[in-house]
Amino acid sequence: MSAIDISQCSRCRKPAILYQEYSGQHYCSSCLIRSVRKRIGKELRKQLILPKGENKESTTIMVAVSGGKDSAVLLETLHHFLKNRKDVKLIAGCVNEGIEGYRKPSMECAEKLANNLGIEFKSLSYKSLGFDDMDNVVKVMPKISKKNEEVKGMSPCSFCGVFRRKGINKLASEMNADYVAFGHNLDDMAQTVLMNLQKGDLERTIRLAPHTWAPIKGMAPRIVPIRWIPEQEVQAYAMTLDLPFHDDECPHSHQALRILHRDIVAKMEDAVPGTRHGLVHSSDSIKEMFAKNNNQQLSDLSNKSANNCEKCGEITSQEICKACIMKKWLVDHS
Ligand code: SF4
Ligand SMILES: [Zn+2]
Ligand SMILES: [Zn+2]
Repeated sequence: MSAIDISQCSRCRKPAILYQEYSGQHYCSSCLIRSVRKRIGKELRKQLILPKGENKESTTIMVAVSGGKDSAVLLETLHHFLKNRKDVKLIAGCVNEGIEGYRKPSMECAEKLANNLGIEFKSLSYKSLGFDDMDNVVKVMPKISKKNEEVKGMSPCSFCGVFRRKGINKLASEMNADYVAFGHNLDDMAQTVLMNLQKGDLERTIRLAPHTWAPIKGMAPRIVPIRWIPEQEVQAYAMTLDLPFHDDECPHSHQALRILHRDIVAKMEDAVPGTRHGLVHSSDSIKEMFAKNNNQQLSDLSNKSANNCEKCGEITSQEICKACIMKKWLVDHS
């Protein structure tokens, strides 16, 4: 055991289980749970605006779950904060990508947690959306890329991300969801901010969740209540509470560009603790500044390029959405 592991909790002097480099604080398991909940609760109050008044309507939140630790912590904490509210309904929604050996056990974990918490669980597969299982997509990608220049250099995640978004939107509309909650932790968010900045993609920076103040036309606003919790703390929280979650990596993830950004962000955080918070704060500041300088609301900016796809009607910045283009590549190939 290292010296860090045998340190005392900075708050109650019990043995610590985690050292927070960016704050210099040690945490025992109970103080960590309290601290994580406090930060998530604070963020949730900012992002989730519930109707007030006597005749307030019920609000449905779809919690996007995958069976991994992040969405397990998201589901458990949302349940913790909202379980006594009669005007809020939580539903867990899971998209099955069709990845052998990976998705089935993780979906079982997600369903088990939802059942334990008494939350309804719904799922749909890529196949039911008219796409193909990801395992098959990965097999045909080299052939598709020979015919389509655009596909060269794409990773399986480029397809998977587009299909999953479609699946989440379908589930959310079936549930009449008012909000969709995602379990992006601080590391995920910092990586995304860096990726968007690196590409010079200001529009994506502006459209990044939370959407509370900048709803996108035709889409339930996305909220990300655990966005300030580092991955390590999410893991410690899930393990301390013994939440069922699946810890394996997707077999196609090694091809993702995100892996590179994960390493870069981790190195930057090591060298300068607090980097992840700084990146996410920067993105928030850019959003605010952009709105101020343009003398517009963020909602106007994020809706600027929102059309309906000519094929499926989904909101897109192009004439035909990416999912329909990708579906055509797959159909043309077969
Ligand atoms: S790692 Fe990529 S291919 Fe695997 S589930 Fe995630 S997005 Fe899909
Ligand atoms: Zn303590
Ligand atoms: Zn479409």
